[in-house]
Amino acid sequence: MKKKIRLLIIASIIGLIGLSFVQGYLINNTYKLNKDAFLEDTKRSIFRFDNNRPDFDSIYDTIGEHIVQRLVDYKLNRLPKDKFFEGLDKVQDSLNNRFIELYQNAFIDLEVSHPIKFQKRLKSIIILDSIANDTILFRPKKTETLFMLGESFSLENAYGINNSQTTTDIERSYLDNGESKIINIEFQVVMQDYFSISGWETKALNRMVSTLVISLLIFIFVIGLLYYSIESLITQKKIAEVKTDFINNITHELKTPLATLALSTKMLKRKEISSNPIQLKNTVNTIDRQTDRLQKLVDEVLNNSIGYKDIKLEKELININELLMTILDDFQIAIEQRAIVLNRDLLNEDILVNLDQFYFTTAILNILENAVKYNTEPLTISLSAKIHQDLIITITDNGVGIPKKHQMSIFEKFYRASEKEIHNVKGLGLGLYYTNQIIKAHKGSIEAESSEGKGAKFIIKLPLS
Ligand code: ADP
Repeated sequence: MKKKIRLLIIASIIGLIGLSFVQGYLINNTYKLNKDAFLEDTKRSIFRFDNNRPDFDSIYDTIGEHIVQRLVDYKLNRLPKDKFFEGLDKVQDSLNNRFIELYQNAFIDLEVSHPIKFQKRLKSIIILDSIANDTILFRPKKTETLFMLGESFSLENAYGINNSQTTTDIERSYLDNGESKIINIEFQVVMQDYFSISGWETKALNRMVSTLVISLLIFIFVIGLLYYSIESLITQKKIAEVKTDFINNITHELKTPLATLALSTKMLKRKEISSNPIQLKNTVNTIDRQTDRLQKLVDEVLNNSIGYKDIKLEKELININELLMTILDDFQIAIEQRAIVLNRDLLNEDILVNLDQFYFTTAILNILENAVKYNTEPLTISLSAKIHQDLIITITDNGVGIPKKHQMSIFEKFYRASEKEIHNVKGLGLGLYYTNQIIKAHKGSIEAESSEGKGAKFIIKLPLS
């Protein structure tokens, strides 16, 4: 059974890990899809305004005219290639603020709410010639492109769109030594747009918040369900074990009185016994004692197995020193024949505590009786009472002790520590359970401290009022 539960737990954990991976994979996929859809939407918006806004054309035309003029100068050897772009930054500077304003307004018009930075870059300018092309500018790598218009941002996490390539054929007149001439230039310009969105991860995540929350809730629910199932399985197993133990214990307890009763009734049937008044009296006394014992056993099971909510206390103000003295004195008489030292260390002053005398006595006696039951000779039992906000009663013995693994369970119903040497001691595992219920009914607490072979210590805390 233990092995089965362990296997079940391992299988469930493996299942959960597998499920987490699948879930993680699906969430990641959804995230990627959302991200792509989001980027696609943004690209579409940019494409829409870039192609439909005539305001931009005047800016592009101005820049285009500057480039054409430079190309003409270059072709006429009036401008060296390395000076081609000199001064173009001033043109860009004068147009750029207008450009940024225009595209930001365009985003507002298109109801794009997330912050987008946009820029147009010049990638290459090539003069096309039938003999040999002449490259004025060529920046094949993304990072090397020449900045033209828009806001500046790193291209590391930017997205490139609208890669446009236009070939233009121009014809310009110029003066050569006072003579008007015409020059023809065919050139190709490659432009590339880039955009960068800050915080798009959050945007993409925002789109899937509901999916995330639902899957997280389902996941927690499944884990909870699994935890609950395994826990109830373990509890069921524990209950089954405890019940089996209890049946074994009670059978063991019933055996002796029943066997004695059977023997005694057989003896009663014998003439020599029934005719002898002394023997008859002895046998009847034995029957009486054994029925008494059986009755006590039944009472113990019936009375001691009730929960603290069912205990009806009749509280009164009791002088705790006096009550403990009486309990210890009576107990001393009961154990008189045995070599037991009983130490007491009571309160320095008389204090009244509100408690039910009958139940409280039963609780203390259960612990004292256990100290005798689970003893090693010579046995010393010590009871001390102190006030430390609450009333604290400590009962210590130097008996067999309770192994650590049992300490958490000894207050459970029918629980008995099943170590070999303890097994010989009779009991139903109800004494400490009942004691705990009584202390709980008084709104107090009880705990055990012990280690195997080193005796046991029971600490009871009771509120003073
Ligand atoms: P029972 O004595 O009938 O078994 P209890 O509820 O009184 O039932 O005790 C539960 C278990 O706690 C016992 O079986 C025993 O193993 C352990 N125990 C209780 N008191 C002591 C003690 N003073 N020393 C060692 N073990 C103890």
